[in-house]
Amino acid sequence: MSLIPSALARVLVLGVAALALVACGDDDEAGSAATPSASPERVSVVATTMQLQDFARQVGGDRVEVTGILGPDNEPHEYEPTPSDAEALADADVVLENGANLDEWLDDLLANAGSKAKRVTAVDGIELLPTEEEGFPGDPHVWHDPDNAKRMVDNIATGLSAANSEGRTTFVRNATAYKAKLDGMAKQIRATFAPIPADRRNLITTHDAFGYFVRASDLNQVGTVLPSVSTDSEPSGRQVRELVEAIRAQDVKAIFTEEAVDASLEKQIADEAGAEVSTSLYADVLGEPGSEGETYIDAELANAKAMAAAWAGS
Ligand SMILES: [Zn+2]
Repeated sequence: MSLIPSALARVLVLGVAALALVACGDDDEAGSAATPSASPERVSVVATTMQLQDFARQVGGDRVEVTGILGPDNEPHEYEPTPSDAEALADADVVLENGANLDEWLDDLLANAGSKAKRVTAVDGIELLPTEEEGFPGDPHVWHDPDNAKRMVDNIATGLSAANSEGRTTFVRNATAYKAKLDGMAKQIRATFAPIPADRRNLITTHDAFGYFVRASDLNQVGTVLPSVSTDSEPSGRQVRELVEAIRAQDVKAIFTEEAVDASLEKQIADEAGAEVSTSLYADVLGEPGSEGETYIDAELANAKAMAAAWAGS
């Protein structure tokens, strides 16, 4: 007769199995000699933007290992790839890019790395807002509309499934669960703006990154400090004067700066127009771990909260 009740026996067996898995995971050097484990090999994913890194982790769960190229201090429009990016790409199974010329430096990087990774473009199938700027097929900042974010998540689930068919059920299930959270986020954003009258929703940001957000939340984009969908640009003297005039004419109180972009021009323009420089928005990047913009959902909610707070008092 066994003295160990069956439930406890199971816990012990599982515990030993878990220890064995940990041992395999830690033992990189002797990896090839290790006993084959029952857990599937993780799909190696390299993602350019921080939004895509978050989406890939949400959809891939523990079946993927995500390496990010851009961090909280890296403006995608001005990014200069490093040798470690090329190394990560050389070993990747899947590469996630935004597309629409946001991360166009990836082309050269992939070619130099000799990567054979499956390339997934997140903006595929999304109707881009028009821009007349050279090189851009449309405004690349699609993720600022929750409906577009859901489409990006679906594209990622499809791309991961193509690279790893055994994971398909998991990817689709994770994508469905995450899209429900995105619906919840959209609802919270609507509730945040609901008390703000239409004539106070006057947005001025550093660069033209919030076109989709403006459309989705019914805001009024008065202007941008950099007259471009890229941060890699400068306003002319005439453009600065026109912006100052628009701020005065529409009695705009706040100019929003952006994470990862120098704010000195915003300060000058705010001083000249009699406005204030307000909270830093998450335009192209997410925040540091532990910040209020750590995840995509956190960042979008933080942006909405910052705008509504500035306009509620205006
Ligand atoms: Zn941008």
